[in-house]
Amino acid sequence: MTQREPIYEGKAKKLFETEDPDILLLEYKDTLTAFNALKKATMEGKGTLNNKISSFILQYLSSKGVPNHFVKVIDDSSQLVKKVEIIPLEVVVRNITTGSICKRLGVPEGINLIPPLVEFYLKNDDLGDPIVTKEQAIAFGWAAKEEIEKIKDLALRVNTLLQELFTPLGITLVDFKLEFGKTKDGEIILADEISPDTCRFWDSSSGDRLDKDRFRKDLGNVLEAYQEIWKRLSCKGER
Ligand code: ADP
Ligand code: UDP
Repeated sequence: MTQREPIYEGKAKKLFETEDPDILLLEYKDTLTAFNALKKATMEGKGTLNNKISSFILQYLSSKGVPNHFVKVIDDSSQLVKKVEIIPLEVVVRNITTGSICKRLGVPEGINLIPPLVEFYLKNDDLGDPIVTKEQAIAFGWAAKEEIEKIKDLALRVNTLLQELFTPLGITLVDFKLEFGKTKDGEIILADEISPDTCRFWDSSSGDRLDKDRFRKDLGNVLEAYQEIWKRLSCKGER
């Protein structure tokens, strides 16, 4: 079904063409990177966990009416997705301050952000994904004004839905990154992945980090944390 050579290989995933020109195969790799790929590691099983977690979440979001690229799971590490033209913006939603916002603005960690913040970063590894304003995104043609508004609305809707999913599982959704793309019909849909690589999840009782911060900060038990997220999500139906 897939050609041997990927059409794109990134830090965490590979993309392959399929027989259908509108569908891509997205393969999740076992590699982990942080600090713009200055820190790297391989953890066997990480790709499988992220494939499962992201598929689960994207299907949940589809069921709640959020248009996204997910088509179906193919095997342990890959899924079929609708091909889109990625909008070159990383859209970050924050419910609690931590990470780059604390460094950038000197604000303490742990402030509840009500309402949540939506931020845009330019997807450009060479520049270290700089933060940009909506006006800059429009001025430089990275997205049109209506697209920015649509993306912001979708990002906030995803935030509400993810909180409804994770709060009953004892997980606090701290922040996360989304990517959006345009289909061949010009529709803006959610793309890429939603996983512990791209979200910050804190255990609601202990405050334990259950995401890539375990890798960024050398806290150990990275894979165990991802497994814990998958365990709680997959047990959801049995509660
Ligand atoms: P990076 O490119 O930052 O190293 P990844 O390793 O996650 O990141 O690579 C996956 C790439 O696939 C990303 O550049 C992402 O924008 C892109 N992508 C995700 N979903 C789709 C899609 N449905 N169609 C086309 N490209 C996609
Ligand atoms: N994030 C991501 N990819 C990036 C940058 C950030 O998935 O290239 C996620 C990150 O995991 C966190 C959120 O976006 O959940 C906010 O990240 P932040 O801006 O605090 O950056 P960081 O501290 O990770 O550098």
